[in-house]
Amino acid sequence: MKRRQFVGGLAAAVGAASCAGEKTDCASGTGQSAETFEWSCVTSWPPKYPGLGMAVENLAERIESASNGRLKIKVYGGGELVPAFEAFDAVSRGTVEMGHDASYYHKGKVDAAQFFTAVPFGLNYLELNGWFYYGGGLELWRELYEPFNIIPFPCGNTGVQMGGWFNREINSVDDLKGLKMRIPGLGGEVIRRAGATPVTMPGSEIFTSLQTGAIDATEWVGPYNDVSFGLHKAAKYYYYPGWQEPGAGLECMINTAAWASLPADLQAIVEISCQAITTDMMAEYTHGNAFALQQLVDDPDVEVRPFPDDVLRLLKSITHDIVRETAATDPMWDKIQKSYYAYMEKSTRNQRVTEFAYLRTRDL
Ligand code: CA
Repeated sequence: MKRRQFVGGLAAAVGAASCAGEKTDCASGTGQSAETFEWSCVTSWPPKYPGLGMAVENLAERIESASNGRLKIKVYGGGELVPAFEAFDAVSRGTVEMGHDASYYHKGKVDAAQFFTAVPFGLNYLELNGWFYYGGGLELWRELYEPFNIIPFPCGNTGVQMGGWFNREINSVDDLKGLKMRIPGLGGEVIRRAGATPVTMPGSEIFTSLQTGAIDATEWVGPYNDVSFGLHKAAKYYYYPGWQEPGAGLECMINTAAWASLPADLQAIVEISCQAITTDMMAEYTHGNAFALQQLVDDPDVEVRPFPDDVLRLLKSITHDIVRETAATDPMWDKIQKSYYAYMEKSTRNQRVTEFAYLRTRDL
Protein backbone atom coordinates (compact mmCIF):
# COMPACT_ATOMS: atom_id res chain seq x y z
CA MET A 1 0.00 0.00 0.00
CA LYS A 2 2.72 2.46 1.03
CA ARG A 3 5.00 1.34 -1.78
CA ARG A 4 2.21 1.75 -4.30
CA GLN A 5 1.50 5.27 -3.12
CA PHE A 6 5.17 6.15 -3.29
CA VAL A 7 5.48 4.77 -6.81
CA GLY A 8 2.32 6.61 -7.85
CA GLY A 9 3.62 9.83 -6.32
CA LEU A 10 6.95 9.47 -8.07
CA ALA A 11 5.29 8.81 -11.43
CA ALA A 12 3.08 11.85 -10.94
CA ALA A 13 6.10 13.99 -10.06
CA VAL A 14 8.01 12.80 -13.14
CA GLY A 15 4.91 13.45 -15.22
CA ALA A 16 4.57 16.99 -13.85
CA ALA A 17 8.22 17.73 -14.68
CA SER A 18 7.90 16.48 -18.24
CA CYS A 19 4.58 18.34 -18.67
CA ALA A 20 6.40 21.66 -18.43
CA GLY A 21 8.04 21.05 -21.78
CA GLU A 22 5.74 18.63 -23.57
CA LYS A 23 2.13 19.70 -23.64
CA THR A 24 0.97 16.65 -25.56
CA ASP A 25 2.03 14.36 -22.73
CA CYS A 26 0.04 16.45 -20.26
CA ALA A 27 -3.07 16.42 -22.39
CA SER A 28 -3.00 12.67 -22.85
CA GLY A 29 -2.19 12.09 -19.19
CA THR A 30 0.78 9.86 -19.92
CA GLY A 31 2.63 11.38 -16.99
CA GLN A 32 0.30 9.55 -14.57
CA SER A 33 0.50 6.01 -13.29
CA ALA A 34 -0.72 3.74 -16.06
CA GLU A 35 -2.41 1.27 -13.72
CA THR A 36 -6.12 1.04 -14.47
CA PHE A 37 -9.00 -0.20 -12.30
CA GLU A 38 -12.39 -1.59 -13.28
CA TRP A 39 -14.95 -1.53 -10.50
CA SER A 40 -18.55 -2.60 -10.13
CA CYS A 41 -21.04 -0.47 -8.22
CA VAL A 42 -24.38 -1.86 -7.00
CA THR A 43 -27.27 0.42 -6.03
CA SER A 44 -30.74 0.36 -4.52
CA TRP A 45 -32.23 2.44 -7.33
CA PRO A 46 -34.12 1.49 -10.45
CA PRO A 47 -31.56 1.65 -13.32
CA LYS A 48 -30.87 5.24 -14.46
CA TYR A 49 -33.71 6.54 -12.26
CA PRO A 50 -34.00 10.38 -12.34
CA GLY A 51 -32.02 12.00 -9.52
CA LEU A 52 -31.12 9.01 -7.32
CA GLY A 53 -30.02 6.57 -10.02
CA MET A 54 -28.54 9.20 -12.33
CA ALA A 55 -26.47 10.61 -9.46
CA VAL A 56 -24.42 7.43 -9.32
CA GLU A 57 -24.22 7.20 -13.13
CA ASN A 58 -22.88 10.78 -13.08
CA LEU A 59 -20.44 9.82 -10.34
CA ALA A 60 -19.03 6.98 -12.44
CA GLU A 61 -18.81 9.22 -15.50
CA ARG A 62 -17.00 12.02 -13.63
CA ILE A 63 -14.54 9.65 -12.01
CA GLU A 64 -13.75 8.04 -15.35
CA SER A 65 -13.23 11.35 -17.14
CA ALA A 66 -11.29 13.00 -14.28
CA SER A 67 -9.03 9.95 -14.04
CA ASN A 68 -8.52 9.86 -17.79
CA GLY A 69 -10.05 6.37 -17.90
CA ARG A 70 -7.84 4.92 -15.15
CA LEU A 71 -10.83 4.16 -12.91
CA LYS A 72 -13.85 2.79 -14.73
CA ILE A 73 -16.99 2.01 -12.74
CA LYS A 74 -19.88 -0.08 -14.06
CA VAL A 75 -23.13 0.81 -12.30
CA TYR A 76 -25.86 -1.77 -11.66
CA GLY A 77 -29.46 -0.87 -10.80
CA GLY A 78 -31.15 -2.49 -7.80
CA GLY A 79 -31.72 -6.19 -8.49
CA GLU A 80 -29.45 -6.32 -11.55
CA LEU A 81 -26.46 -7.84 -9.76
CA VAL A 82 -27.66 -8.12 -6.14
CA PRO A 83 -31.11 -7.37 -4.62
CA ALA A 84 -31.86 -3.65 -4.09
CA PHE A 85 -31.34 -3.76 -0.33
CA GLU A 86 -28.16 -5.87 -0.34
CA ALA A 87 -25.65 -3.32 -1.56
CA PHE A 88 -24.15 -2.99 1.94
CA ASP A 89 -23.46 -6.73 2.21
CA ALA A 90 -22.03 -6.94 -1.30
CA VAL A 91 -19.54 -4.12 -0.58
CA SER A 92 -18.77 -5.49 2.89
CA ARG A 93 -17.92 -8.96 1.49
CA GLY A 94 -15.93 -7.46 -1.37
CA THR A 95 -18.25 -9.00 -3.99
CA VAL A 96 -18.17 -5.51 -5.52
CA GLU A 97 -15.90 -2.56 -4.85
CA MET A 98 -18.59 0.10 -4.56
CA GLY A 99 -22.24 0.65 -3.65
CA HIS A 100 -24.65 3.59 -3.69
CA ASP A 101 -27.80 3.78 -1.59
CA ALA A 102 -29.19 5.35 1.59
CA SER A 103 -27.65 4.30 4.91
CA TYR A 104 -31.04 3.97 6.63
CA TYR A 105 -31.70 0.87 4.52
CA HIS A 106 -29.26 -0.89 6.90
CA LYS A 107 -31.68 -0.54 9.82
CA GLY A 108 -31.68 -3.84 11.72
CA LYS A 109 -28.07 -4.53 10.71
CA VAL A 110 -26.40 -1.31 11.82
CA ASP A 111 -29.18 0.80 13.30
CA ALA A 112 -27.16 3.93 13.98
CA ALA A 113 -26.49 4.30 10.24
CA GLN A 114 -29.87 6.04 9.99
CA PHE A 115 -28.37 9.28 11.34
CA PHE A 116 -26.30 9.58 8.16
CA THR A 117 -29.29 9.57 5.80
CA ALA A 118 -31.88 11.33 7.88
CA VAL A 119 -33.70 11.01 11.16
CA PRO A 120 -37.16 12.52 11.66
CA PHE A 121 -37.13 16.17 12.72
CA GLY A 122 -33.33 16.17 12.32
CA LEU A 123 -30.73 18.09 10.31
CA ASN A 124 -31.50 19.62 6.91
CA TYR A 125 -29.22 19.50 3.85
CA LEU A 126 -27.03 22.45 4.88
CA GLU A 127 -26.69 21.27 8.46
CA LEU A 128 -26.03 17.63 7.56
CA ASN A 129 -23.07 18.69 5.42
CA GLY A 130 -21.86 21.00 8.20
CA TRP A 131 -21.98 18.08 10.62
CA PHE A 132 -20.31 15.63 8.19
CA TYR A 133 -17.39 17.78 7.11
CA TYR A 134 -16.79 20.11 10.05
CA GLY A 135 -18.73 18.73 13.03
CA GLY A 136 -17.29 15.22 13.33
CA GLY A 137 -20.20 13.41 11.61
CA LEU A 138 -18.15 11.79 8.86
CA GLU A 139 -15.58 10.46 11.35
CA LEU A 140 -18.36 8.80 13.36
CA TRP A 141 -19.84 7.34 10.18
CA ARG A 142 -16.46 5.81 9.23
CA GLU A 143 -16.02 4.43 12.73
CA LEU A 144 -19.47 2.81 12.52
CA TYR A 145 -18.74 1.10 9.16
CA GLU A 146 -15.16 0.10 9.95
CA PRO A 147 -16.05 -3.39 11.28
CA PHE A 148 -17.87 -4.03 7.98
CA ASN A 149 -14.86 -3.20 5.78
CA ILE A 150 -16.66 -0.25 4.26
CA ILE A 151 -15.59 3.38 3.93
CA PRO A 152 -18.62 5.66 3.46
CA PHE A 153 -18.67 8.96 1.53
CA PRO A 154 -21.57 11.42 1.50
CA CYS A 155 -22.76 11.31 -2.12
CA GLY A 156 -26.02 13.08 -2.94
CA ASN A 157 -28.86 14.70 -1.07
CA THR A 158 -32.53 15.12 -1.92
CA GLY A 159 -33.11 18.14 0.33
CA VAL A 160 -36.19 18.21 2.54
CA GLN A 161 -38.70 15.65 1.28
CA MET A 162 -42.49 15.61 1.19
CA GLY A 163 -44.61 13.88 3.84
CA GLY A 164 -46.08 11.59 1.21
CA TRP A 165 -49.16 10.42 -0.64
CA PHE A 166 -52.28 9.36 1.24
CA ASN A 167 -55.52 7.94 -0.07
CA ARG A 168 -57.33 9.36 2.94
CA GLU A 169 -57.26 12.65 4.82
CA ILE A 170 -55.08 13.06 7.90
CA ASN A 171 -56.97 15.53 10.07
CA SER A 172 -55.91 14.27 13.48
CA VAL A 173 -53.63 11.73 15.15
CA ASP A 174 -56.51 9.23 15.09
CA ASP A 175 -56.36 9.13 11.29
CA LEU A 176 -52.92 7.49 11.51
CA LYS A 177 -54.38 4.43 13.23
CA GLY A 178 -54.55 1.39 10.97
CA LEU A 179 -52.82 3.21 8.12
CA LYS A 180 -50.55 0.93 6.08
CA MET A 181 -47.72 3.08 4.79
CA ARG A 182 -44.48 2.54 2.91
CA ILE A 183 -41.93 4.44 4.97
CA PRO A 184 -38.39 3.20 5.72
CA GLY A 185 -35.99 3.95 8.55
CA LEU A 186 -36.79 5.53 11.86
CA GLY A 187 -39.85 7.28 10.37
CA GLY A 188 -41.44 3.85 9.95
CA GLU A 189 -40.88 2.99 13.61
CA VAL A 190 -42.37 6.35 14.61
CA ILE A 191 -45.64 5.80 12.74
CA ARG A 192 -45.84 2.25 14.10
CA ARG A 193 -45.98 3.70 17.61
CA ALA A 194 -48.61 6.15 16.40
CA GLY A 195 -50.82 3.20 15.43
CA ALA A 196 -49.96 2.76 11.74
CA THR A 197 -48.27 -0.17 9.98
CA PRO A 198 -45.01 0.75 8.23
CA VAL A 199 -43.76 -1.34 5.32
CA THR A 200 -40.50 -1.15 3.39
CA MET A 201 -40.18 -1.87 -0.32
CA PRO A 202 -37.90 -0.73 -3.13
CA GLY A 203 -39.05 2.32 -5.09
CA SER A 204 -39.94 0.23 -8.11
CA GLU A 205 -42.82 -1.48 -6.23
CA ILE A 206 -44.45 1.59 -4.73
CA PHE A 207 -46.82 2.71 -7.48
CA THR A 208 -48.50 -0.68 -7.93
CA SER A 209 -48.83 -1.20 -4.18
CA LEU A 210 -50.51 2.18 -3.73
CA GLN A 211 -52.76 1.81 -6.78
CA THR A 212 -53.99 -1.66 -5.83
CA GLY A 213 -54.62 -0.63 -2.21
CA ALA A 214 -51.96 -2.99 -0.82
CA ILE A 215 -50.79 0.15 1.02
CA ASP A 216 -52.85 3.25 1.99
CA ALA A 217 -50.01 5.71 1.84
CA THR A 218 -46.38 6.13 0.88
CA GLU A 219 -43.62 8.57 1.23
CA TRP A 220 -40.99 8.51 -1.50
CA VAL A 221 -38.96 11.65 -2.08
CA GLY A 222 -40.51 14.86 -3.34
CA PRO A 223 -42.43 16.22 -6.34
CA TYR A 224 -39.62 15.61 -8.88
CA ASN A 225 -39.28 11.88 -8.10
CA ASP A 226 -42.87 11.27 -7.05
CA VAL A 227 -44.25 12.52 -10.37
CA SER A 228 -41.79 10.32 -12.25
CA PHE A 229 -43.32 7.28 -10.48
CA GLY A 230 -46.86 8.56 -11.22
CA LEU A 231 -47.79 8.53 -7.52
CA HIS A 232 -50.24 11.42 -8.12
CA LYS A 233 -52.30 9.00 -10.19
CA ALA A 234 -52.55 6.52 -7.30
CA ALA A 235 -53.49 8.80 -4.35
CA LYS A 236 -55.17 12.17 -3.91
CA TYR A 237 -53.65 13.82 -0.83
CA TYR A 238 -50.07 15.04 -0.90
CA TYR A 239 -48.92 16.07 2.58
CA TYR A 240 -45.97 18.20 3.64
CA PRO A 241 -43.45 18.66 5.15
CA GLY A 242 -41.23 15.57 5.03
CA TRP A 243 -40.81 15.38 8.80
CA GLN A 244 -39.36 11.88 8.32
CA GLU A 245 -36.53 13.00 6.00
CA PRO A 246 -35.55 16.63 6.37
CA GLY A 247 -32.51 16.41 4.08
CA ALA A 248 -31.83 12.83 3.08
CA GLY A 249 -28.15 12.21 2.38
CA LEU A 250 -27.12 9.35 0.10
CA GLU A 251 -23.95 7.33 0.49
CA CYS A 252 -21.19 5.95 -1.67
CA MET A 253 -19.75 2.87 0.05
CA ILE A 254 -16.31 1.62 -0.89
CA ASN A 255 -14.79 -1.67 0.20
CA THR A 256 -11.78 -0.96 2.42
CA ALA A 257 -9.36 -3.18 0.45
CA ALA A 258 -10.52 -1.73 -2.87
CA TRP A 259 -9.98 1.78 -1.51
CA ALA A 260 -6.47 0.89 -0.29
CA SER A 261 -5.58 -0.43 -3.75
CA LEU A 262 -6.12 3.01 -5.36
CA PRO A 263 -3.19 5.43 -5.76
CA ALA A 264 -3.60 8.69 -3.86
CA ASP A 265 -4.64 10.76 -6.88
CA LEU A 266 -7.49 8.36 -7.75
CA GLN A 267 -8.61 8.41 -4.12
CA ALA A 268 -8.74 12.21 -4.32
CA ILE A 269 -10.73 12.04 -7.56
CA VAL A 270 -13.28 9.70 -5.96
CA GLU A 271 -13.62 11.86 -2.86
CA ILE A 272 -14.01 15.12 -4.78
CA SER A 273 -16.45 13.54 -7.26
CA CYS A 274 -18.68 12.37 -4.40
CA GLN A 275 -18.78 15.95 -3.05
CA ALA A 276 -19.57 17.26 -6.53
CA ILE A 277 -22.47 14.82 -6.85
CA THR A 278 -23.98 16.09 -3.59
CA THR A 279 -23.92 19.66 -4.89
CA ASP A 280 -25.16 18.67 -8.32
CA MET A 281 -27.99 16.53 -7.01
CA MET A 282 -29.23 19.28 -4.70
CA ALA A 283 -29.26 21.67 -7.68
CA GLU A 284 -31.15 19.12 -9.78
CA TYR A 285 -33.77 18.57 -7.05
CA THR A 286 -34.18 22.28 -6.31
CA HIS A 287 -34.93 22.77 -9.99
CA GLY A 288 -36.97 19.61 -10.62
CA ASN A 289 -39.10 19.95 -7.48
CA ALA A 290 -40.09 23.52 -8.30
CA PHE A 291 -41.49 22.52 -11.68
CA ALA A 292 -43.08 19.25 -10.56
CA LEU A 293 -44.80 20.90 -7.59
CA GLN A 294 -46.39 23.45 -9.93
CA GLN A 295 -47.76 20.57 -12.01
CA LEU A 296 -49.26 18.96 -8.89
CA VAL A 297 -50.77 22.20 -7.58
CA ASP A 298 -52.43 22.69 -11.00
CA ASP A 299 -53.76 19.09 -11.06
CA PRO A 300 -57.48 19.05 -10.09
CA ASP A 301 -57.14 15.46 -8.82
CA VAL A 302 -54.42 16.33 -6.30
CA GLU A 303 -54.62 18.22 -3.01
CA VAL A 304 -51.34 19.51 -1.59
CA ARG A 305 -51.75 20.22 2.12
CA PRO A 306 -49.80 20.52 5.38
CA PHE A 307 -49.97 17.95 8.19
CA PRO A 308 -51.91 19.28 11.19
CA ASP A 309 -49.57 20.61 13.92
CA ASP A 310 -50.81 18.14 16.54
CA VAL A 311 -49.91 15.22 14.25
CA LEU A 312 -46.38 16.62 13.82
CA ARG A 313 -46.06 17.23 17.58
CA LEU A 314 -46.98 13.61 18.33
CA LEU A 315 -44.56 12.22 15.72
CA LYS A 316 -41.76 14.42 17.07
CA SER A 317 -42.33 13.33 20.64
CA ILE A 318 -42.32 9.64 19.60
CA THR A 319 -39.09 10.22 17.65
CA HIS A 320 -37.35 11.58 20.72
CA ASP A 321 -38.60 8.62 22.81
CA ILE A 322 -37.13 6.13 20.32
CA VAL A 323 -33.81 7.96 20.08
CA ARG A 324 -33.50 8.01 23.86
CA GLU A 325 -34.52 4.37 24.35
CA THR A 326 -32.16 3.10 21.64
CA ALA A 327 -29.30 5.12 23.14
CA ALA A 328 -29.65 3.08 26.34
CA THR A 329 -28.95 -0.23 24.54
CA ASP A 330 -26.69 0.71 21.61
CA PRO A 331 -23.40 2.48 22.53
CA MET A 332 -22.62 3.62 18.96
CA TRP A 333 -26.16 4.98 18.57
CA ASP A 334 -25.64 6.90 21.81
CA LYS A 335 -22.27 8.28 20.74
CA ILE A 336 -23.66 9.39 17.36
CA GLN A 337 -26.91 10.84 18.66
CA LYS A 338 -25.04 12.94 21.23
CA SER A 339 -22.89 14.49 18.51
CA TYR A 340 -25.87 14.89 16.13
CA TYR A 341 -28.22 16.62 18.57
CA ALA A 342 -25.52 18.82 20.11
CA TYR A 343 -24.81 20.00 16.58
CA MET A 344 -28.50 20.51 15.83
CA GLU A 345 -29.09 22.56 18.94
CA LYS A 346 -26.45 25.10 17.96
CA SER A 347 -27.41 25.04 14.32
CA THR A 348 -31.13 25.56 14.92
CA ARG A 349 -30.41 28.88 16.59
CA ASN A 350 -28.45 29.99 13.55
CA GLN A 351 -30.98 28.64 11.01
CA ARG A 352 -33.76 30.59 12.74
CA VAL A 353 -32.05 33.92 12.17
CA THR A 354 -30.78 33.10 8.66
CA GLU A 355 -32.58 30.66 6.29
CA PHE A 356 -35.89 30.57 8.16
CA ALA A 357 -36.00 34.32 8.85
CA TYR A 358 -35.03 35.13 5.31
CA LEU A 359 -37.63 32.87 3.67
CA ARG A 360 -40.29 34.52 5.80
CA THR A 361 -39.46 37.88 4.24
CA ARG A 362 -40.51 36.58 0.82
CA ASP A 363 -44.10 36.36 2.04
CA LEU A 364 -44.21 39.81 3.68
CA1 CA B 1 -38.15 9.21 1.50
